Amino acid sequence: MTAFEFSLDGECGSARAATFATPHGDVETPAFMAVGTLATVKSLDPIDLREIGAPMILGNAYHLHLRPGDELIRDFGGLHSFMGWEGPILTDSGGFQVFSLEGLRTVDESGVEFRSHIDGSKHVFTPESVMQIERNLGADVIMQFDHVIPGQSDESAARDASERSVRWLARCVAELERLRAGGPPPKTTIPQRPPRPGTTFPLPAPNHPQALFPIVQGGIHPTLRRDAARAIQSSGSFDGYGIGGLSVGEAKPDMYHILEVVDGELPRDRPRYLMGVGFPEDLVEGVLRGVDLFDCVAPTRMGRNGTAFTSDGRLNIKRAEFRADPRPLDDACECSACRRFSRAYLRHLYVSDEMLGLRLLSLHNVHFLVRLMRDARAAILAGTIGTWSHDWLARYHSRPTPLE
Ligand SMILES: [Zn+2]
Repeated sequence: MTAFEFSLDGECGSARAATFATPHGDVETPAFMAVGTLATVKSLDPIDLREIGAPMILGNAYHLHLRPGDELIRDFGGLHSFMGWEGPILTDSGGFQVFSLEGLRTVDESGVEFRSHIDGSKHVFTPESVMQIERNLGADVIMQFDHVIPGQSDESAARDASERSVRWLARCVAELERLRAGGPPPKTTIPQRPPRPGTTFPLPAPNHPQALFPIVQGGIHPTLRRDAARAIQSSGSFDGYGIGGLSVGEAKPDMYHILEVVDGELPRDRPRYLMGVGFPEDLVEGVLRGVDLFDCVAPTRMGRNGTAFTSDGRLNIKRAEFRADPRPLDDACECSACRRFSRAYLRHLYVSDEMLGLRLLSLHNVHFLVRLMRDARAAILAGTIGTWSHDWLARYHSRPTPLE
């Protein structure tokens, strides 16, 4: 028995409700994971995230390796203890970030050499070095290092990248085994200090089990996706699977079709994580196609810009029509922003450039997606996901003109 049990609680068509057990607690799926790229979900305290009911959050290997450094985080007991979040964490491998550094990187079979977006310093990511970084960070789920290509790539470029990703997966597996066999990470170099009552700081370096998720690539080409899913499964047994390279500019029907193809290929008794896809309608469509985990920076990024998700579609709080609007952002929402504040007050905060405004909208947006997945789970368990999703999408798309 592994530390990462995935037990199905109910199915309805391709949609599944399940419980994903991790060393830092259970995640009831389908679930949305808030993104804390730099070991912080922007503007939200872990206490906020707990109150929202956020089941799991993300960190990013590329960003944390550059700043403050994965070895420093290891010496503070890993990401959980460094950022004060006790729940499950997933780290992305940084593949998406380093391959986005157009002009600043060179790629070959060994890995990627790139220059830091912060100070131009030179770095090399290989499957091996990324496993070392993700082990230092100590997340529960770690993603393989993969070759990421632009969304519009032709089939031969997509095939090369996808096949290379499968070869890199084998190197990730081997390196992780080597690191595990080497025993616990070195002792902390952070000077000890008398702990304050109630704190356990500093903590030993993380040494709990980690689940490595491979990533199914292949662009919008069904054959490549099938080949990738099969090659990955023939290369080993994994606790879950990432689906990468979607929501990068392709048409929505293409994305939905690829999800159906991948749904038919991946084992049903393991979680599937659709990477970087997190608009409300995409979450609902993903759930219908067998996806269990989602993440996206959209709720916090849009919150900072003044855009809120509501059951009736998106709304931009900066618009003049909300100047004297006494209603909450969303009548149906129980987040602490909607329970306490009017649209008029929130608009005032934005117009006045007050930081509380972007914090409250970020909080509402993350809550909205966490709750959306909780409602979808309830509908799957009740056997009503078909009508529930139809009604939810109809209402979400019902506003005649988006309020942005
Ligand atoms: Zn709310």
